[in-house]
Amino acid sequence: MARYTGPACRLCRREGTKLFLKGDRCTSGKCAIDRRNTAPGQHGAANKKMREYGMQLREKQKTKRYYGVLEKQFLNYYEEADRKEGMTGENLLVLLERRLDNVIYRMGLGESRRDARQVVLHGHVTVNGKKVNIPSFIVKAGDVVAIKESSRDEGKFKTLVENLQTNLIPKWLELNKEALSAKVVTLPAREDIDFPFEEQLIVELYSK
Ligand code: SF4
Repeated sequence: MARYTGPACRLCRREGTKLFLKGDRCTSGKCAIDRRNTAPGQHGAANKKMREYGMQLREKQKTKRYYGVLEKQFLNYYEEADRKEGMTGENLLVLLERRLDNVIYRMGLGESRRDARQVVLHGHVTVNGKKVNIPSFIVKAGDVVAIKESSRDEGKFKTLVENLQTNLIPKWLELNKEALSAKVVTLPAREDIDFPFEEQLIVELYSK
């Protein structure tokens, strides 16, 4: 499946906001959004007024890129969210938040979601003691996500966790620093997702 392999910062500039795709660089003075927040391309700096459809489309693109999900996969999440009880937009964000690569990122075991995806793909992760190398795996309440025992001595994970600010761990995850694991104590709720998404715009886009 085709995956975007171009510069990550270009995606942020396209959406006009930080999507935190590059780890430490995103909080350093080198962030492209902090330095030059204009859309990429020759006419990127032009002040274009967005119509309703444009705003809905940009919100969908922004959400998709933030979680590193492809178009078809995103539509599948939307359809699943729509089938569930409750608000479709909220269901969609909660589903995306429950992806295994996002959980690894939230645990601080990946510098970015892209990095966390690689950690999963390279077979370093277990769920309830079984190896899972599918970044889109959806966790449930009660699941225990961990770094595989044979991978735990890799300096990378230890350094990441040691430097982790535990106040950044969402309350739906209970981190065990020593075991490099986390329990999903409850499913995430909309208020646990700290990024300013306007999910209603995505619902409006797909409801046309
Ligand atoms: Fe986006 Fe990070 Fe690049 Fe800034 S440094 S533009 S937040 S990917």
